[in-house]
Amino acid sequence: MKTDVIVVGAGPTGLMLACELALAGVRTRVLERRTEPQRHSRALSLHPRSVELMDQRGLLDRFLPLGRTVPGWHFAGLPTQLDFRPLDSRHRYTLFLAQARTEAILEERAHELGVEISRGHEILGVSQHGDGVEVETRVPGGGTETVRALYAVGCDGGRSLVRRSAGIGFPGTDETLTGILGDFAVVDPRPGALDAARARGVIIAPLEGGLTRFVCLDPERMRVPSREPVTLEEFRTSLIRITGSDCGVAEPDWLSRFGNATRLAESYRSGRVLLAGDAAHIHFPAAGQGLNTGLQDAMNLGWKLAGSVHGWAPPGLLDSYDAERRPVGRSVTENTEVQTLLAELTLMSGYRRPAAALRSLLDQLLGIAEVNRRLADQVSALGTHYPPADLGAHPLVGRRMPDVGLTAAGSAATRVYELLARGRFVLLALAEDPSPSLREAVATDRASRVTAVSVDKYDEHADLDGVTEVLVRPDGHVAWATRAADHATRRNERLQALTAWAGTPSSRS
Ligand SMILES: Cc1cc2nc3c(=O)[nH]c(=O)nc-3n(C[C@H](O)[C@H](O)[C@H](O)COP(=O)(O)OP(=O)(O)OC[C@H]3O[C@@H](n4cnc5c(N)ncnc54)[C@H](O)[C@@H]3O)c2cc1C
Repeated sequence: MKTDVIVVGAGPTGLMLACELALAGVRTRVLERRTEPQRHSRALSLHPRSVELMDQRGLLDRFLPLGRTVPGWHFAGLPTQLDFRPLDSRHRYTLFLAQARTEAILEERAHELGVEISRGHEILGVSQHGDGVEVETRVPGGGTETVRALYAVGCDGGRSLVRRSAGIGFPGTDETLTGILGDFAVVDPRPGALDAARARGVIIAPLEGGLTRFVCLDPERMRVPSREPVTLEEFRTSLIRITGSDCGVAEPDWLSRFGNATRLAESYRSGRVLLAGDAAHIHFPAAGQGLNTGLQDAMNLGWKLAGSVHGWAPPGLLDSYDAERRPVGRSVTENTEVQTLLAELTLMSGYRRPAAALRSLLDQLLGIAEVNRRLADQVSALGTHYPPADLGAHPLVGRRMPDVGLTAAGSAATRVYELLARGRFVLLALAEDPSPSLREAVATDRASRVTAVSVDKYDEHADLDGVTEVLVRPDGHVAWATRAADHATRRNERLQALTAWAGTPSSRS
């Protein structure tokens, strides 16, 4: 089978992207160095926007039963947690789920959609020419193979070879601080020991199989480079130093050291080579945002790349991936730097003033609803907004479409996110007097990428007040919305929006 897009790396970002591409009918092959999926999990959190993405693709039933929902998440390890409950979403929680589970679900889905996943394939280099890319790959059993496609996407993590092959710079700062993590069986912890450890900033979380995850920063050991292995003895000594007890940790299943190197790719695209996930941004895992950001990169890129492969993408659509997602990457790297700095100051001072006073002040601020809202919007990624070029655009444009319940003419009740399950644009006519030309607007070839719905009834939502028509992108963000009441204005605006985002009817599909 011919390949349209090569995805390098079967981590969460690569698998999510492969699913998105395959859903849009793109022939996709994933090349992964590892022969087996990763057993250990770095990430443990799916934040609200990522849960919404799974909902938009009809995958929630696979995720929810395996995880546990918690109503918020920590920020900078402060005692007051971010509260996601006031946010505007059906999923106002973090789904506590091991990264290995997320990857397994996405890999299963990718197989169902016909993605070819080649494990034991380590890529050695990527080159591009006028109309395609060539990826040099080491194959199982020795030898190499050259795989050709129209595009290649590096989802190959922080040390991305794809990024280096494409000559894309990765400016930022080197590691100055490291933390340690361990997954342990815990035996008879001293009464109150776990609470005392949490009060000293140690993150403690239950895992499957009776294990418990401990993550800590030890001021005496935080300059040890991340390449140096962690031992059980070191972990115990650190816990005793930080908390006064070893918390009963025994029999580690996994020990790891991780650092705060922080970098952002200078571009997410070079010609036919693109980057997503850790290949494009690395940072300290503060507030659990790396995997989530990677999934959201993939959701933004998939349909745009599909449009380029199929030939309907309007000019500039593929470049909008960098324009929209790199600012998000920058803002995530910056907020993790702030969180890390606060933790470092507090630890270096031994929880004494003035650092302790700063920490206490910020902790109190987190209790203010507006402050919570601002930071929760960012960490949950529900606040992600892609500002439109047109300053006069409706305020909804670029934001997430709210998942309102609705009834389409002659159909059963549904909701916006269900309509997005096929990964197409959704054009909703919300006016009581639906435009007669709605179906005509998408009746030609464009119908294979746009679902047009005349809505009879929908749930009230402040953002939709007075809106008569809205075009939702395949990633659930709003491409266009209007309050125009008369048919002619609506028709003109709609045609412009469809052409700008979904191409002309005659473009190939
Ligand atoms: C301690 C810790 C805790 C974390 N906790 C969280 C959390 O709670 N929430 C969160 O959102 N994030 C968290 N993260 C970050 C998260 O783990 C990463 O952001 C995420 O794994 C990135 O996914 P990815 O698919 O982009 O890259 P990766 O997961 O790194 O996957 C890259 C894949 O590419 C493959 N590969 C690499 N080179 C090649 C090659 N040359 N050829 C072929 N294949 C190749 C690799 O084998 C790998 O499978 C945490 C990170 C750490 C260190």
